[in-house]
Amino acid sequence: MTEEPARSEGREPPLEERLAAIRDRIETAAQAAGRSPAEITTVVVTKFQPLGLVRELAALGVRDFGENRHQEARDKAAALPGLRWHFVGQLQTKKARQVRSYAQVIHSVDREQLVDALAAPGVPVEVFLQVNLTDDPTRGGAAPADASRLAERILAAEGLRLLGIMAVAPLEEEPRSAFARLRKLAEAVRSVVPSATAISAGMSGDFEAAIAEGATHLRIGTAITGSRPPRA
Ligand SMILES: *Cc1c(COP(=O)(O)O)cnc(C)c1O
Repeated sequence: MTEEPARSEGREPPLEERLAAIRDRIETAAQAAGRSPAEITTVVVTKFQPLGLVRELAALGVRDFGENRHQEARDKAAALPGLRWHFVGQLQTKKARQVRSYAQVIHSVDREQLVDALAAPGVPVEVFLQVNLTDDPTRGGAAPADASRLAERILAAEGLRLLGIMAVAPLEEEPRSAFARLRKLAEAVRSVVPSATAISAGMSGDFEAAIAEGATHLRIGTAITGSRPPRA
């Protein structure tokens, strides 16, 4: 006897198939852009998903996981310490040190106070400078005009290694043109910190456009995990 699928839309394909299908699409998009898929890291965003799903993905060879809430990220990282944890959500200054203690990569560094709160001696944490590509200042990310200054601040901070730049494409814009703007900003940041060559961009709905514009780190959730359980 088989279990009925819980969701009303019907049965979703198995995790392994979804993962393989996304890996194929990443490879195809990389080849179309004249890039090697080997230079692209896929971070599977497992926010709101149970630990069991993370375990299944790890068994399928996934090593990089993304979370956007401190408590959930901390608990998952404590349960599965051998994986690489990427913090991708807006980060409060008072939680910065704690996130640093379990996350290997923080994608959402977007203001000077947060740089100062994250700075600490010891094993460096890898960070992305997040920029806001929308006109809405309440969204996460530094204003594009502040990106170079923030890059300098990160460079000067103890125990932070700037990998590059990160953004979420605005809903109201063609993703490819937003990611083209991000690529220009990445060049400006690289002129300040030459080693900051990475670009974290591309989610379930737009990762192919991000690959075409040079993304090195994709943050993909639902296209791999299936729909998210409702928020607690
Ligand atoms: C949730 C989230 C993602 C993944 O979104 P999907 O549409 O599920 O792929 C990527 N980046 C950030 C910052 C997120 O919060």
